[in-house]
Amino acid sequence: MKKERTLVLLKPDAVQRSLVGEIISRFERVGLKIVGLKFIVPDEKRAYTHYVKNEEEITALGERSIEGKKKSGMDTTGEDPRALGEKIIHGLVSFLTSGPVVAIAIEGHQAIKIVRKLVGSTEPLSSDVGTIRGDFTVDSYQIADIDGRAVRNLVHASSNEFEAEYELKLWFDESELVSYRNARDAVLYDIEWKKEA
Ligand code: ADP
Repeated sequence: MKKERTLVLLKPDAVQRSLVGEIISRFERVGLKIVGLKFIVPDEKRAYTHYVKNEEEITALGERSIEGKKKSGMDTTGEDPRALGEKIIHGLVSFLTSGPVVAIAIEGHQAIKIVRKLVGSTEPLSSDVGTIRGDFTVDSYQIADIDGRAVRNLVHASSNEFEAEYELKLWFDESELVSYRNARDAVLYDIEWKKEA
């Protein structure tokens, strides 16, 4: 049975608003397992490298954001994906370096998608009730645009296997990730458990 690992960052707004415990408990209570955890003030290099994995990512971020703005009913005429992507990255880097963040490596069956489901969609307006972003945030593309900053949506979560591997390497040394079994593994991975025993 394939277990995945994924990276979650509790962004500075989560720490400032004392939501660290509340957010971590949401991952724990579904049965996902923490295999790495650190409290860190990222420098610019790490924040930039986190968001810009390759050049195409800048335009892709701009494109995703334009789609999101359209869904929110905003006029995106004349928005250039590359220029918007660069602006957002700039905002994200200054946001991420503004104070402490919590980096968490999470493990579990289909962990990447389950974590994204718990986090909710990017803009609080469209994140479902019951998700972390839907339950605890009211920021929007509109207010962020006026302020010229990144949307404050509490959490980052890797969106696919490539991102998860890249981001886990960026935030954790191999020795900082711990493999262990907990009580839930015995229930969920019963077959695997017996095979290994
Ligand atoms: P997600 O974080 O949901 O995976 P993206 O990777 O598309 O979303 O965007 C990364 C982050 O950039 C978002 O979480 C948000 O903080 C910020 N962001 C995205 N679009 C905008 C925008 N139009 N204005 C300000 N910030 C944005």
